[in-house]
Amino acid sequence: MRQTITCIACPLGCRVEVEEKSQGEKKYLISGHKCIRGEKYAIEEITNPTRVLTYTVKIRNANLSRLPIKTDGVIAKGLLFSCIEEIDKIELQAPIRIGDVIIENVLNTGVDIVASRSMNAIKI
Ligand code: SF4
Repeated sequence: MRQTITCIACPLGCRVEVEEKSQGEKKYLISGHKCIRGEKYAIEEITNPTRVLTYTVKIRNANLSRLPIKTDGVIAKGLLFSCIEEIDKIELQAPIRIGDVIIENVLNTGVDIVASRSMNAIKI
């Protein structure tokens, strides 16, 4: 089976061809990449795709109603929607500082959800 993957490890965005081999030392035949990172990325993408999740969470007592957040590492692509469901269950209270941990070890991934920006409390 042959798949084409766009490498996102740098802005060049090489189109990397991955062909699964039925025999031989190497399991995959990789072509189209301009550096070794493309090979690594392509194999990870077809065997265990991961992503950094960026999203927003509800926040009270702030100038905006939602606070930008992200994972502090990559998580399995298949867990992204479950992760969003966990985030949607919570509502924060301002003030929040950039880097504050919003959810620790989300879904037992070893990855934390952290604030991507600070948000002050509104003065009433
Ligand atoms: S293969 Fe190398 S040069 Fe090409 S996009 Fe990936 S990291 Fe960049």
